[in-house]
Amino acid sequence: MGELTPKTGYMLEVDHKTLLKSDDLYQYILKTSVYPREAEVLKELRNANLAHPKGYMSTAPDGGQFFSLLLKLINARKTLEIGVFTGYSLLTTALSLPHDAHITAIDVDKDVYQEYALPFIQKAGVEHKINFIHSPALPFLDNLLEDPKEEGSFDFAFVDADKANYINYHERLLKLVRVGGLILYDNTLWGGTVAEDEASVTEYMRPNRQHLMKLNQFLAVDPRIEISQVPVGDGVTLCRRLP
Ligand code: SAH
Ligand code: CA
Repeated sequence: MGELTPKTGYMLEVDHKTLLKSDDLYQYILKTSVYPREAEVLKELRNANLAHPKGYMSTAPDGGQFFSLLLKLINARKTLEIGVFTGYSLLTTALSLPHDAHITAIDVDKDVYQEYALPFIQKAGVEHKINFIHSPALPFLDNLLEDPKEEGSFDFAFVDADKANYINYHERLLKLVRVGGLILYDNTLWGGTVAEDEASVTEYMRPNRQHLMKLNQFLAVDPRIEISQVPVGDGVTLCRRLP
């Protein structure tokens, strides 16, 4: 434990200065910086998806805004998405990429894509950028890797599906994403439970908590990437592939 700094009252090792002290502060961020810039069609998708019983799985709009900017910063043109659900992250990606971009979007659930995501994707005029793959992600990625042309051909990957496989996806994605490209893992703070005792965590959260804690430890020392774990949404870990 450190000492209290007299001027601010912060204890340097343990005090985070902002993130996130209250629900009000989160609402402040959304209202001030996110909602005024969120595309109308994304708002419509988000509102429509409130009706889905698992709508809470959608990417939060502040998280979407964050990776939309990342996509532009690295001039992404060819991307992968694992875990589409009702399409908030996919539509965000499609709106952020240039006209001739290619997004390979994978999900085991085709119905939810067609029913919830596709109408908004069509309305936004970005369907031509998307190749939806109805498959479990792991065999599909292995399939892709059989073609040497696919190696290092992706600029960006967003991983948001079965947490048990994140480490397996990682090995494939390090081959598919180019040097200097980005891999984003979503939900790496798992509702904050990664820093709680197992006993205080609900049964439902436990298995994925274990997977994500293992992933976090693995990524922290993986010499093939540099990382930043950003506490946006439910925690996003950015990995930049090194040469
Ligand atoms: N990115 C989405 C949320 C994804 S939720 C959004 O912004 O709304 C997780 C999704 O992963 C679900 O739609 C689920 O069908 C899918 N999924 C689960 N296991 C999978 C697997 N093995 N391969 C591909 N998709 C999977
Ligand atoms: Ca997620």
